[in-house]
Amino acid sequence: MPWYKTLHWQILLGLIAGLLFGIISILAGFQSFTEIFVAPVGTIFIRMLQLVAIPLVIASLIVGITNLNDITKLSRMGGKTIGIYMMTTVFAITIGLTVVNVFQPGKVLPEETRDALFLSYKENIEGQEDAAAEVLDRNPLQFIVDIVPPNFFASISDNANMLQVVFMAVIIGIALMRIPEDKSRLLIGFFDALNDVVIKIVELIMKIAPYGVFALIASVITDLGGDDLGATIELLRALLSYGLVVIAGLILHMSIVYTSLFKWYGNMKMINFLKGIRPAQLLGFSTSSSLATLPLTMNRVEKKLGVHEEVASFVLPVGATINMDGTSLYQAVAAVFIAQAVGIDLSLSQQLIIVLTATLASIGTAGVPGAGIIMLVIVLQAVEVPVEGIALILGVDRILDMCRTAVNITGDAAVSVVVASSEGKLGEGAYNE
Ligand code: ASP
Repeated sequence: MPWYKTLHWQILLGLIAGLLFGIISILAGFQSFTEIFVAPVGTIFIRMLQLVAIPLVIASLIVGITNLNDITKLSRMGGKTIGIYMMTTVFAITIGLTVVNVFQPGKVLPEETRDALFLSYKENIEGQEDAAAEVLDRNPLQFIVDIVPPNFFASISDNANMLQVVFMAVIIGIALMRIPEDKSRLLIGFFDALNDVVIKIVELIMKIAPYGVFALIASVITDLGGDDLGATIELLRALLSYGLVVIAGLILHMSIVYTSLFKWYGNMKMINFLKGIRPAQLLGFSTSSSLATLPLTMNRVEKKLGVHEEVASFVLPVGATINMDGTSLYQAVAAVFIAQAVGIDLSLSQQLIIVLTATLASIGTAGVPGAGIIMLVIVLQAVEVPVEGIALILGVDRILDMCRTAVNITGDAAVSVVVASSEGKLGEGAYNE
């Protein structure tokens, strides 16, 4: 296959074309054309991905569990998954705290820029505060209660309920293993066929991925540029060191933590892993949503990296909901950046509180665009940094959201490889011979 026909290049070309189209539409003043005629293509593309996510998780997880033939394997896999997810998150936050303390981007933010940012984004942060207050009002163990759905149909009618969907698929799979084979055969055959159908639909959706990505990026750029490109460039320049510190942290995290994971227990070279997962990273970058990218992440991890279905269909949906390495790292950097900018020195114990709260906040962050900044409120409140400080970083949040989402997805995929390898469930994949 010529290089430009591979999915990774197709998506990348869509991304670059979208970027150029977005810039041209601002310069030539046809933003409303882009918003009215181009943006809907991106929305349709994201909706199609969302549409297949729940059937894909249900069918592939049920089929995967019935293939496992042994429930103890499932609980062992669950324990490992959660344990490694927690560990990588804590490493991510530690790396975030290290880079932000070393480079201190908040200290170089000019005072006038700080005051101007406070003023212009003041109103935008009320929504974030309300949403975070709602989360804080809940019982701290509510998130465990929420895993168990009170109604089957209600839970499968909302993609935000991914953990409930995983829970149901697991108990249906377990029950199917415990009834006579002549009865289970019919249902397993049904889910097996449904699984194949959904996988085929994902392949079809990927054919329009370059156009979807083009439209998504074009509309993000016109949104960002607004009516005043000069002001946007000024904003980007003012927050450049903050943005670069977040991005440097993300790159460090990927190259230190995931590479060490693979050395320790992955049975895979980092370079091969990246080759296999690249299209999902690009899609995560373009959609800013781990949940919307989930169907492609599952596809790549199984087909190209050789992770068996029973591992991928459990580890990845759980990861898309609770494992956000990129988000937790960003939350740590953002909290300290805001503190530096408003002249608060955070002590070591306060920074340890950031490790704890950013871990919890990233678990509570939904895999959708902009969710990370809402949960940042909780981290800020825990260390008594004024929540209004979010105004300082709001203007560049979308760009950083794209970067952290790509890392969130990479983290989920890396853990699926490690769990599969440790369980003897890492087979042959195109990039894993
Ligand atoms: N957009 C991120 C994700 O979907 C969450 C965040 O806002 O950090 O993974």
